[in-house]
Amino acid sequence: MTKVTRFAPSPTGPLHIGGVRTALFNYVYAKQNKGKFLIRVEDTDAERSKEEFEENILKGLSNIGIIPDEPPVRQSERSELYALAAEQIFESGNAYWCDCSKETLDEMRKEQEAAGKKPMYDGRSRNLGLERTNNSVLRLKTPQDGELVFHDLVRGEVIFQNSELDDLILLRSDGSPTYHLCNVVDDFNQGVTTVIRGEDHLSNTPRQIHIQNALGYDALEYAHLPMVLGQDKKRLSKRNAVTSLQDYFDQGYLDSSMINMLARLGWSKGDKEIFYLDDLISDFRIQEVQKAGAIFDPSKLDWINNHHLAALSFDDFKNRLIPFLDSLGLDYMQKKNNNEIIAAMRSSKPNLLGVAQDLIPYFSELSSYDDKASNKFLIGSEAVLEYVQRKLNVLEDWNEDSIDKALKEAQTGLSLPTPKLNQPIRIAMTGSTQSPSLGLTLSLFNLEEVNNRINAALKYLSDRN
Ligand code: GLU
Repeated sequence: MTKVTRFAPSPTGPLHIGGVRTALFNYVYAKQNKGKFLIRVEDTDAERSKEEFEENILKGLSNIGIIPDEPPVRQSERSELYALAAEQIFESGNAYWCDCSKETLDEMRKEQEAAGKKPMYDGRSRNLGLERTNNSVLRLKTPQDGELVFHDLVRGEVIFQNSELDDLILLRSDGSPTYHLCNVVDDFNQGVTTVIRGEDHLSNTPRQIHIQNALGYDALEYAHLPMVLGQDKKRLSKRNAVTSLQDYFDQGYLDSSMINMLARLGWSKGDKEIFYLDDLISDFRIQEVQKAGAIFDPSKLDWINNHHLAALSFDDFKNRLIPFLDSLGLDYMQKKNNNEIIAAMRSSKPNLLGVAQDLIPYFSELSSYDDKASNKFLIGSEAVLEYVQRKLNVLEDWNEDSIDKALKEAQTGLSLPTPKLNQPIRIAMTGSTQSPSLGLTLSLFNLEEVNNRINAALKYLSDRN
């Protein structure tokens, strides 16, 4: 049978890391089984659902290549289906109207709590044959004893005691369908065969299976994925991590890196670390997903992004970097050797925003020196700056090799340890102690710029005195 999976986000917030991982596993599972991947927007919570979040979620997924095989459906547009299903359940004798008031339910809960029992609806209206009123809800007649067993592709056999489940509400008193009913009816109507979702939905599954049974639907395949955790081992949230996918793109993490990172959240294949979407489609096995929570480690993402950035052709890298240079107002075109500069700096940071920020000194005037670097190396370095400047000005060729040679000679001439000679020049050129090798750094500027920057550093030093 063709496998059909779905990602069913509730648009109550922007696309977050845990959601993308669920979408990715659904997508990959469908594709590797030559099946279909669908998206269903679960927007029945009218108060919390927002169109802007729906857009953010759908756009975020399509940006990373997770594109559904059919246009997404919205629950808010399918209320008739739910009403029909509720009617079918009622007509078949598997549901009943219940008019217990809030006070009655509160009382019931208190008594159960006092008796040390789990609070749940006790089924007192179940056999009363009540008619529908303005205050009544429709409840499912859930089997009262026995077990509900289902096979989970990740967790193996999962067993729930029916006595632990109460008669859940299918229709509220205003006639609106509940989440469980909509979810089950939609999976059936969309032809879904396989439900892959977060472990937080595990306890919903027996309830939903009872609804399926009441409707005579075929059983589905399930896979409940481990929760994504922050480094504090608590569930990933805005409090312990950047959770929005867009925020990662805004920092210059590649879409392929995000996919790679997310695939590794709860799944691994030996010691292979680098995966592109196509690799996942061939290598991923849902049965190999772990049960334990998966920790999202930002330094691992940096490591992965470094690899993905390094694998890009130079042109591809540059094209992806340009929007970040633009956002910093850097006019890279004014430098004829901009390609050389970008190539020298392309692995300076693990994301494109960081690389672009490191390029500021190369594509704009220096406006300040890093305080710490200046205090440690620049202050008192006038003689070094002047000496090296003289050496550089008599060079016949201006290239990395000849500059390196001049620097070596200067070092011997002044008999200074490398940092004492190199760091003042580096700070004069870039404002900080971070740059590629000094010969390469200097070669990225022309002699006039080098003179201007060394002179500016000398002036800065003399102004301080
Ligand atoms: N709408 C649910 C959520 O956003 C997902 C339900 C499901 O996958 O069955 O958590």
